[in-house]
Amino acid sequence: MNEEIKRSYQFKLVWESGSLIDALAIIHKAENTHSLTKDEIVLLLKNNESVQELFSAADRVRSQFVGDQVHLRGLIEFSNICKMNCHYCGLRKDNGNVKRYWLTPEMIIDFATKASSYGYQTVVLQSGESDIYGVEDMQYIIRNIKSLGLALTLSVGEKTRSEYLAYKEAGADRYLLRIETTDRKLYEKLHPGMSFENRIRCLTDLKELGYEIGTGCLVGLPEQTVESLADDILFFKELDADMIGLGPFIPNEDTPLAHELGGTFELSLKVMALIRLLLPDANIPATTAMETLNKEGRMIALKSGANVVMPNVTEGEYRQLYSLYPGKICINDTPAHCRGCITGKITGIGRQVSKEYGYRIKK
Ligand code: SAH
Ligand code: SF4
Repeated sequence: MNEEIKRSYQFKLVWESGSLIDALAIIHKAENTHSLTKDEIVLLLKNNESVQELFSAADRVRSQFVGDQVHLRGLIEFSNICKMNCHYCGLRKDNGNVKRYWLTPEMIIDFATKASSYGYQTVVLQSGESDIYGVEDMQYIIRNIKSLGLALTLSVGEKTRSEYLAYKEAGADRYLLRIETTDRKLYEKLHPGMSFENRIRCLTDLKELGYEIGTGCLVGLPEQTVESLADDILFFKELDADMIGLGPFIPNEDTPLAHELGGTFELSLKVMALIRLLLPDANIPATTAMETLNKEGRMIALKSGANVVMPNVTEGEYRQLYSLYPGKICINDTPAHCRGCITGKITGIGRQVSKEYGYRIKK
């Protein structure tokens, strides 16, 4: 490369990523005010020179607001049957390559009982979206799990307000429903037969009914821009979400997005760190999808703003069959193994496993 081209190329790089000084000033502002404009978020998402400082600032805010305790949530993947067709997901209805399963209420309660015996304070019941479990089945499961003295999170998709009310009355405490992307056009393209309005309606209902609400996004969806990721972050703040879980989109070969590139670990981590800076007291999991792309992914995330881990407590072949994306970690491990493994990793980075329920404490 001749000198002139080289210089203009370097200039372009600096220009495109924003100056390091600007980036550091924005990180400083975020750490102290927990508020940023969309342009500032975009600059940080694009800037590659300030990432270490971004992660360190998120780690400091995490330590100051939610402390060094890591909350574990035991995840029960109780059915992979789904009537939806989300373009990215291996459980989508049109994927004929998955053996479908559903656990009986007694099995679900049994897995929760075991989770409690391993010391979990929270269980998360997650499944594809289906009507296999009627409202009364769900209430039966919820009441029995609550009688074990556990906090209970549901992640079973879009339901009516009266269903959400019935689950709440039976004792459910929290609900996870990712917005996936706040880019309405992209949302509707990736979710045939679903509407952005209904997604928002669900989150609003859940909040009004008194749930702790968890949402989040996928990072690296086709056609997703950093501007739209900035909108996602501002959406979580506007909604005042109690939990925000995000991870890279990982292409699944049995889906229409099989040949897309997918998200990166680095960009997911940046989005997560920014969320910590803007929602300092929220619960933020170090997600399994992050560890799928980086074998130390969850510990790196815990050192860059996260304070929650959701180990799998599903037993047997069901772990394999809950195939949202390829390369999912721990599919051959037992719940007992995962509990020991994650505790070792957490203490190994100088943090402790919390013995509390880990509700959000607003500050
Ligand atoms: N059916 C429920 C819960 C199960 S899906 C729901 O949709 O809310 C749980 C999460 O898995 C989704 O919110 C989505 O963000 C994530 N997911 C699905 N497919 C994925 C993929 N290919 N890569 C990464 N995450 C994926
Ligand atoms: Fe079903 Fe959830 Fe997968 Fe969509 S993301 S296809 S609703 S399991």
